[in-house]
Amino acid sequence: MEKNFEDILAEELEKHKIKYSKKEISDLRFLYELLLEYNKKINLTAITEPHQAARKHFADSLLPLKSELFPPKTKCLDIGTGAGFPGLPLAIFLPECDFLLLDSIAKKLSFASDAIKKLGLKNVKIKVSRAENLIREENETRESFDVVFSRAVASLPVLIELSLPFVKTGGHFIAFKSKEAENELRDAAFAIKTLGGEFETIIGDHERNLIIIKKKNPTPEKYPRRNGVPEKRPLRETKNDAS
Ligand code: SAM
Repeated sequence: MEKNFEDILAEELEKHKIKYSKKEISDLRFLYELLLEYNKKINLTAITEPHQAARKHFADSLLPLKSELFPPKTKCLDIGTGAGFPGLPLAIFLPECDFLLLDSIAKKLSFASDAIKKLGLKNVKIKVSRAENLIREENETRESFDVVFSRAVASLPVLIELSLPFVKTGGHFIAFKSKEAENELRDAAFAIKTLGGEFETIIGDHERNLIIIKKKNPTPEKYPRRNGVPEKRPLRETKNDAS
């Protein structure tokens, strides 16, 4: 018999030793169906086939659960969440942690907003803004999250500048990266040091890697630089200076 979305998802989670309940799997199934419905109207994802979606969106989003970074009350931020990945699957599995899903495109967040309502998730909020703007306009967000993560948003030097300013000293940033993780890490060494971070570990295999950065020191106030600058002039030694 052909395997369905739930079977593939369960199989993937077991492979990664991530515990799950029937309710969590059925909530993810609901989220998948809602995603397909919205995807007819808004272009949210090219990955719609059940096996691919179960692996590449849903199980992939839950990989941070292999770390021990999520005790109850952990305050999490998902930068560039798009349709809510990885933030929504993680929020379903971690009802005692709080999540803010951030994206600059309101249309994409309309899906996440509806999903939060329909799934009755009490631990998730959404915000339409660019990371560089949010931290300036709402200064209390600076250095206020225990864990910040980001999937498929930018190269690591750029992500470090967008994310580490939000992380509390002692907290962590998790970057979802492919097999190029080691190279990206080398390229981001200067940005990590400049923003107050320190490489902690990589969790993963040859296909998918989670790069985990610990915040050791507060980030200098001048970071992140203004809107668009982190992408245009990624922080690298010698060539670039903060402006
Ligand atoms: N994280 C989701 C995923 O893995 O499916 C979405 C990835 S999508 C390729 C990148 C998203 O990042 C887009 O929705 C874009 O609007 C958002 N984004 C890019 N730069 C951003 C910034 N500076 N602040 C907030 N969101 C940003």
